[in-house]
Amino acid sequence: MYDVIVIGAGFGGLACAANLAKHGKKVLMLEKVSHIGGTSYIFKRDGYYFPMGPLSFSSPKVVLKILRTIGVDKLPRFIRNQFRLVAPGLDIIYSQPLQELRTQLKALFKEETRGIDAFFDELELLNLAVSDLDIWNPEYTIKKTSDERELDPGSGKKFQLLKKYSRVLAKEVLEKYIQERSLQNFLGTQGTYPPRMSMVLLAIMWRLVSEVGIWFPSGGIHGIPETLYDVFLKWGGEAHLSTPIKEIMIDNGRVRGVMTAKGDVFEAAWVVSNADYKKTFLELIQVQNVPKDFLEVVKTRPYFGSELCVYLGVDPQKVKLDMLGAQHLFYRKMVKSEAEFDLTDFDNREIEIYLLSQNAPDTTPPEKASLILRVGFPYEFFEDWRLGEKKRKKGYLDFKRRLAEKLMKTAETLLPGLASAIEIMEIATPLTYQDWGQRFLGSIAGWSWAAEDSQEFPKKMLIETPIQNLLMVGIYSAAELFLGGVPTAMYTGYLASQTILTN
Ligand SMILES: Cc1cc2nc3c(=O)[nH]c(=O)nc-3n(C[C@H](O)[C@H](O)[C@H](O)COP(=O)(O)OP(=O)(O)OC[C@H]3O[C@@H](n4cnc5c(N)ncnc54)[C@H](O)[C@@H]3O)c2cc1C
Repeated sequence: MYDVIVIGAGFGGLACAANLAKHGKKVLMLEKVSHIGGTSYIFKRDGYYFPMGPLSFSSPKVVLKILRTIGVDKLPRFIRNQFRLVAPGLDIIYSQPLQELRTQLKALFKEETRGIDAFFDELELLNLAVSDLDIWNPEYTIKKTSDERELDPGSGKKFQLLKKYSRVLAKEVLEKYIQERSLQNFLGTQGTYPPRMSMVLLAIMWRLVSEVGIWFPSGGIHGIPETLYDVFLKWGGEAHLSTPIKEIMIDNGRVRGVMTAKGDVFEAAWVVSNADYKKTFLELIQVQNVPKDFLEVVKTRPYFGSELCVYLGVDPQKVKLDMLGAQHLFYRKMVKSEAEFDLTDFDNREIEIYLLSQNAPDTTPPEKASLILRVGFPYEFFEDWRLGEKKRKKGYLDFKRRLAEKLMKTAETLLPGLASAIEIMEIATPLTYQDWGQRFLGSIAGWSWAAEDSQEFPKKMLIETPIQNLLMVGIYSAAELFLGGVPTAMYTGYLASQTILTN
């Protein structure tokens, strides 16, 4: 009998397990695949190392605080990443403080000066309200007393402001203040598509990218899960890799333990699931154990989409990479009418070009460089190619290669010579993220950018579940962007461990 069983060794599971082990709990961690780190893992091709999922992340202070608390003494250092948008009519580095961005935009769009000021005034008001959500906002904590009436007056005001603006569409605010469509789209998405978010989600996004920053850790993103795993083992934790869980066992509304795919049963007072909430409640728990209204939200709430990703090892002598001017460059070559939209017309889509080797020069062979091209894609576009786990119809490799080559053609209009500089290429699709990353339909997170997808759980934090002593951790246990991917996963893991320790 264990104190706690943790299903999954991603950022969330590891942070939770390591803190519990540190406090003397008897913890068993069971991971489906043969490695730890979940999607934050690295793979090797011909001397190049590539990250499988996350490329950089926000809120490094939160990450460092949790690592310190868990007892990690060798902490990573962080490099701040720059974000640039190149699109018809706009070329801007936007990962800069809001005040500076406001000034720069007013210089670029002189006739919109008043509207820009009005929009930034509202955004900065909200920026104050969305800061330190993990500290003051009862929606993001697990305190038993999450009653807004108990907030101090300052926090109460912020809470009311967020409530009001969560129902306000960014599009409507922007249309009120700004005439120029490309500027509306940029301020409402940091890109070129029409805004679909609420003002609150938009304010969180601007805060993370402009004020808090997006960063890359020394040792790579996978280095942090590796450190957490070492600490977990050091504190006496037990882990079994290549051990998929088939069922979370429940007796009278309370968790009892888990059953592995091989039929082994492990019992524990608590179970923590690092699998996403759809997998946890629709696949691992027998349906009669889940309250109907909760199950309905789990079923209907859409996840963040997926992407096509092309990993490239390149010879930097043959392509001018300093043209990029930032680690993350978002590029849209042209903007056609909405009626002409086609997912594979990459000239008319926003693509990301990420210069991995600038963040991590030690991940390439000497004198080489590495790039990652990404473009959002729905799972449905690829699903017919999937015959089963890691099984594809004949022709899939050619299909994805043709897409990758088309994507490179678009990137080449910005980076002349790219095609001739390529030394190796690897391609991931939503099917890859599903089967190798264990992500539900290849998804990136458990929430949607669109304000209309607002099927709501009772709280923004989904750590506590309707099943007694079953907790959820990881990026999917926050119903909003919150601190950004990796820090949210770690924060939820840490918070779940505190729930158990203080119970
Ligand atoms: C393509 C892509 C790009 C991304 N880019 C970024 C980015 O740039 N920045 C960022 O911050 N975040 C990004 N994310 C999100 C990112 O993956 C997370 O921030 C981080 O990896 C989340 O960790 P986690 O603990 O939530 O889950 P995961 O990494 O998903 O880990 C969950 C673990 O649970 C295991 N598991 C699942 N089911 C079972 C089972 N039945 N039995 C046993 N084990 C099981 C899985 O194998 C996995 O190891 C990206 C995600 C994807 C898919």
